[in-house]
Amino acid sequence: MHVSTFDILRCPYCGSRLDLVTSSFHEKHGDEIQTGILGCQCCVFPVVDGIPVMHLQPNATAARELVEQRKPIDARRAMFGLDEVPAIAERVDALMASPDATYRQIVEAFAEHLEGGYFLYRFGDPTFIVGDALVRAVAGTVLDDGGRAIDICGGSGHLTRTLMDPSVSSGPAPVLADLYFAKVWLARRFTAPDCEPVCCDGNSPMPFARGAFRYAMCSDAFMYIWTKRQFVLDMLRLIDDRSKDARPGAAMISHTHNQCTWTPSHGQPLTPDGYRNLFENEQPRVFGESGLFADVVRGGPLDLSRVDGEKTLEAEQALAIIASRHPGVFVPHPLQPPPSRPMGEFVVNPLYASTASDDAAARYRLRFPSEDYEQEYGACREYLPAEIEIARAELRELAAGRVPTPARDLLRRRVVVDIPLRYGV
Ligand SMILES: [Zn+2]
Repeated sequence: MHVSTFDILRCPYCGSRLDLVTSSFHEKHGDEIQTGILGCQCCVFPVVDGIPVMHLQPNATAARELVEQRKPIDARRAMFGLDEVPAIAERVDALMASPDATYRQIVEAFAEHLEGGYFLYRFGDPTFIVGDALVRAVAGTVLDDGGRAIDICGGSGHLTRTLMDPSVSSGPAPVLADLYFAKVWLARRFTAPDCEPVCCDGNSPMPFARGAFRYAMCSDAFMYIWTKRQFVLDMLRLIDDRSKDARPGAAMISHTHNQCTWTPSHGQPLTPDGYRNLFENEQPRVFGESGLFADVVRGGPLDLSRVDGEKTLEAEQALAIIASRHPGVFVPHPLQPPPSRPMGEFVVNPLYASTASDDAAARYRLRFPSEDYEQEYGACREYLPAEIEIARAELRELAAGRVPTPARDLLRRRVVVDIPLRYGV
């Protein structure tokens, strides 16, 4: 963690500032704390592999004791939940020490100890493309003259990566907060390098100062939070813009399920009105995801001036809720054009299997990794053609990080995706 993070970090329980306990074991490189113990007025928290662990669950307590005993690798194993499975722990440690290891290899080494899901296909799936467009529209609007963003329950940082796109935010590095240490670790290494990682519990008060951020988001996770009311009021506290010089921010919950309809991996969702009530006086707007999805597939604009009626919202599988007093948020937002250079690298969407090819062109067919995937994400057929042919010359340009004019449409349709380096696709 960077020492400047102390300016925004607070104890989730007593609310006081934290400091490095210099009398305990610690490893610091310049302004980055790699290992150590942070103290507040009520307790102590470990920093493990550069990630402050701001909760008191049993793995965090074990890791804190191991840091105090000068055992940073064992502390990391405790945070990974691998201390009882030494064979897996050794394999994971070896991969982590290798500069060539990929995201995919590490996730696979964790086996059932890390829920990896369909991460390989993440950057092209329908939930992601709506989340990505929403982040670009809303965060891009409120952060256009500075300010900091936080991705709460951000998992391994797929949308944190969108926040790091210079066209979205030029302010300080966004914070990625999640309870699952391994996911935060993977984000820091692969998906969103240079984000500021914090391991914390979404069911506890958030370990940050009032007004520390101008944009706070939670995507594809809120239905799993039990303490929803506390979570939302705390999100609003983080973006509090009532101080003298503050500019209006935004809080966004995207892809949360709807109590009125059934969905796979349902969680404990609320009704559209139930979500609205969590924001008390803020009068958020609730959007059905299918309308936003149609906007993105059509090529924009993403119309946040729309008002979805109650009947429409009740029929939706997933909702987005946005609270903001910024006049530029609830308007139609043109979609950003495809990137001219990759943040990571351009690859053909891994949902495509290569079929017959020749010297001039490569041919691909869309195929799903499982029936479950197809059931949950089959809407990607609306932008991914069943079969596609791409000229070899275009593929060579894309592999070199350039976008020839015909390939712009491939990027727009997510036939080609911009993925992190060493992702393993
Ligand atoms: Zn405290």
